[in-house]
Amino acid sequence: MTAPRSFSAVDVIRTKRDGGRLSDDQIRWFLDAYTRGEVADEQASSLLMAIFWRGLDAGELAVWTEAMIASGERTDLSSLSRPTVDKHSTGGVGDKVSLVLVPLVAACGAAVPQLSGRGLGHTGGTLDKMEAIPGWRALLPPDEMLRVLDSVGGVICAAGPGLAPADRKLYALRDVTGTVESIPLIASSIMSKKIAEGTSALVLDVKVGTGAFMKSEADARLLAETMVRIGEDAGVRTVALLTAMDEPLGRAAGNAVEVTETLDCFAGRGPSDLVEITLALAREMLTLVGISDDPSPALTDGRAGEAFGAIVRAQGGDLSALPTSDDVRVVPAPASGYVSRVDAMAVGMAAWRLGAGRARKEDPVSPIAGVIVEAKAGERVEEGQPLFALHVDDPARVDAALDALHDAVVLAPEPPALRPLVLDRIAV
Ligand code: URA
Repeated sequence: MTAPRSFSAVDVIRTKRDGGRLSDDQIRWFLDAYTRGEVADEQASSLLMAIFWRGLDAGELAVWTEAMIASGERTDLSSLSRPTVDKHSTGGVGDKVSLVLVPLVAACGAAVPQLSGRGLGHTGGTLDKMEAIPGWRALLPPDEMLRVLDSVGGVICAAGPGLAPADRKLYALRDVTGTVESIPLIASSIMSKKIAEGTSALVLDVKVGTGAFMKSEADARLLAETMVRIGEDAGVRTVALLTAMDEPLGRAAGNAVEVTETLDCFAGRGPSDLVEITLALAREMLTLVGISDDPSPALTDGRAGEAFGAIVRAQGGDLSALPTSDDVRVVPAPASGYVSRVDAMAVGMAAWRLGAGRARKEDPVSPIAGVIVEAKAGERVEEGQPLFALHVDDPARVDAALDALHDAVVLAPEPPALRPLVLDRIAV
């Protein structure tokens, strides 16, 4: 990219503040100057707030995303012998889909370069879950990442500092300036990292519901459509599924407990909602790269489990040493009935309060703390039977976790009508 000509940051801010359209050069200059430290944080904050209120049109958004990608390196995966395809989830409680999906799609012949993040707040991060496996390393040098990807077909690792550094700075600023919840800013943030990672195709799992970032289906749909358009404009074949996140996905929310549930999926004992969403995403990913095989046999016939073991070993992990809690506390049902609702947000909060998640980026997480949902929506329980099992690391945290779960389950005399898990598919 040619060096953008210079502008006044104040003029750029005023243009957007007053509802005007930013030129391509203004956007390129602003993001480049901000990444280099020439534009100050307070000026970038003002522009973010102006974008929060005024938005970016499709043309502005394409250039904004391209400039975020150009702020760092774009990984070249063209030397790989397999076609590349990745998945991104907007995040939810108990969302361990990547742990199951990456080895499954790898076992079916594609290469999955999954660069993931750590969790903040009530939703967990894929890296935190994998780091519950003793010895497992999230940080790989680029050549090692390519080697693992080529030999095993999948890698799960942390994004290096060279990937979309403009986003790294902007995201930290959005976090402290009330400008996270903007569809163009979220879409460009997610897509700049995925496009820079070098994948040729991408499937988005956009979650909607009480435990998701997007609470309304209309917002989730708009986010999905925006991201699909950005991906396609950048030459990455992109499809999105809108999926329900009203109750936790699967039964486990935490770190080691979610790795255990992942292993259950490979052994044919996976919870039906987790298996359904994983297979739906796997089919989309394989179709995008021209592999027509049905992924469901590979999930349980040993191939996906083997690929998971290979990914873990290649990154130094020892699954046989996965830690467990020896302090498990049961929350009994106060009455008999059908579970009509398990509040995902409450379960996420409880797992977080037990120590599975962090409040600040630099906080450590407990590998063993977590919550098991013993009765999911649609299941019947009798009074006194377990609703939840708390896997405790620090007993001082139990009361706060129990508070979060106080009204988390609604019991009814009749079985509830359950809404479908995959709500829609969005493609261009
Ligand atoms: N995840 C991201 O990477 N960026 C956002 O803006 C929101 C979620």
